[in-house]
Amino acid sequence: MIMVGKTSNADLKSIIEQFLPSLIHKRGLTGHQLKVLSALSACRTSKLGGSALACGDCGSVHYVLHSCRNRHCPRCQGIDKELWIEDRKQELLPVKYYHVVFTVPHDLLELFRFNRKVMYNLLFEKSWETISVFAQDPKLLGAKPGAIAVLHTWDQQLGFHPHVHMIVPAGGIDKQGKWKSTKQDGNFLFDVKQLSNVFSARFVSKLRRLKREGKIKKHVPRDLIKEPWVVYAKQAFGSPESVIEYLGRYSHRVAISNHRILKGTSTHVTFSWLNRKAGYRKETITLTGVEFLERYLEHIVPPHFRRIRYLGFLSNRNKREAIEKIREQLLAAHVTRPGLSRSEVLALRFGKRSVLQCRECGGELLLLESFPKERAPPENRCA
Ligand SMILES: [Zn+2]
Ligand SMILES: [Zn+2]
Ligand SMILES: [Zn+2]
Repeated sequence: MIMVGKTSNADLKSIIEQFLPSLIHKRGLTGHQLKVLSALSACRTSKLGGSALACGDCGSVHYVLHSCRNRHCPRCQGIDKELWIEDRKQELLPVKYYHVVFTVPHDLLELFRFNRKVMYNLLFEKSWETISVFAQDPKLLGAKPGAIAVLHTWDQQLGFHPHVHMIVPAGGIDKQGKWKSTKQDGNFLFDVKQLSNVFSARFVSKLRRLKREGKIKKHVPRDLIKEPWVVYAKQAFGSPESVIEYLGRYSHRVAISNHRILKGTSTHVTFSWLNRKAGYRKETITLTGVEFLERYLEHIVPPHFRRIRYLGFLSNRNKREAIEKIREQLLAAHVTRPGLSRSEVLALRFGKRSVLQCRECGGELLLLESFPKERAPPENRCA
């Protein structure tokens, strides 16, 4: 029997604080890596300053520490995720959706490590191109598709495993501007074996071209096509809302969430993972603190890299008009609920835990004063 439960309050932030000096001693960090790790370790400490808030009802004063808002931070992503989900709900279509995942063979990992930006872009480009080619084939659909794509770079053990998750509505917009469902009224997308053949061929051919053009560092292995290129596609079941909740689970996920970090000692970190080969059994793995951070570093994306992309008729340029048209044709009731403000979303999703509510009486909090980094309120007064 494996014990899987949190036995200390170790989290990513405390692990960074504890092991960053040894990590720097062992290997150099790029300025960007150091910037991300520093931001995460400063999240909600006096280093980033804080704010004093007063309750409009009972007058009690509350202090909150500022968060880092870094997209790699497990503490900050929860809030962004909820805001993002609310926005996507405004864009739901009354159609079926598919979850498609594009992965690459192991032999390419070295190239990904040394050419992160180029290779991540290539992965996005070729997965989307594959969906487009199938969608625009008149025998399969004959319409322009749309998708939301998200890059993940990790596996359950924090290993390096770049892959793209895509949510694809089962259909597209044809030349006449009409919505057209994929086969069986959207109950079938495309054949995954054929998807993976087209994906691998196009990926490898562009990769070799980039190499010839001198845009790729390191050796490009031979016989890449023979390796397994796995494309997975599954219909996302449930209500339209649950499709969005489902997508939200992927869109703002970070390499490891704090609840999976079970224990930290002066030398080691233990975290839980799901063993897919054993029916998603929960197991634990222990690494030295430095090894843990080295694995974590692999998942810092290049600065300003767009990890979430809106494609085809769901691209930012097209989606407003496209969504309206499709809804009209499918006679779906328009979502009349007005967009919620940031604080309304937080109150809705986090309830009493929302920082905007008074802990004493539930009243609304008003900003009294913000403390810059140097003059932060003492940490022990803060939540
Ligand atoms: Zn109050
Ligand atoms: Zn943070
Ligand atoms: Zn993933």
